[in-house]
Amino acid sequence: MSLHQTENTEQCLSVGLMGGTFDPIHLGHLLTAEEVRIQFGLEQVIFVPAGHPPHKNSRRISDQEHRYLMTVMATITNPYFSVSRFELERPPDRVSYTIDTVRYFYAIFGGKCKLYFISGADAILEILTWKDYRELLSICSFIAVTRPGYGLDKLTETFAVSCPEALPGIHILEIPAVAISSTLIRRRVAEGKSIKYMAPELVAQYIIKSGLYCSRDEDAV
Ligand code: ATP
Ligand code: MG
Repeated sequence: MSLHQTENTEQCLSVGLMGGTFDPIHLGHLLTAEEVRIQFGLEQVIFVPAGHPPHKNSRRISDQEHRYLMTVMATITNPYFSVSRFELERPPDRVSYTIDTVRYFYAIFGGKCKLYFISGADAILEILTWKDYRELLSICSFIAVTRPGYGLDKLTETFAVSCPEALPGIHILEIPAVAISSTLIRRRVAEGKSIKYMAPELVAQYIIKSGLYCSRDEDAV
């Protein structure tokens, strides 16, 4: 089985990788990916649902096939978007590190194209705690997008001190603000509130049909 929907590795100059738990995917993710694609002239954006992320141990993450399906449903109408199963195919006892994912895409695109890792303001500030972050910063560029509630002011300062050689590879992009998060959606579903217009209609219907996020206990955040 192919690891992502479109094995489109030909004639590619620049590719965006959008990592996330996508539990569930929402309009904030989609808006971000599309805005980055346009502003940076990317040929494609590959969504990479996390298998076993090291940073989300505090709550039970939904089954990966639910998260994968919702990500496919949300992205299917955009010809520039695809979804990778790379992290989902890894052994269940293996934590997924971003460096492994980026190494994989670096190898399949054969260094022919420029890789951009797309990340929200909250996640980008944590990069310096990620496994092998120096190698990561050397093989791909980062696009940090603004996200309501998370400032990017400290980013340049922090990198200037800890990893100045990475600064040219970090781009900051202001995107139309959407204060939607997966946490908010999970909470609203548990409280029986509408999530209409926060996620694509198909995703919202899928959540209801499959009974996802009904229990408040599932979210320890
Ligand atoms: P959770 O609330 O469970 O942490 P989330 O909404 O933060 O979920 P993730 O799957 O953790 O979603 O995020 C994937 C990536 O998308 C991260 O880099 C995150 O910063 C970014 N992101 C999520 N929501 C937004 C948003 N509304 N605006 C900009 N970036 C976002
Ligand atoms: Mg998050």
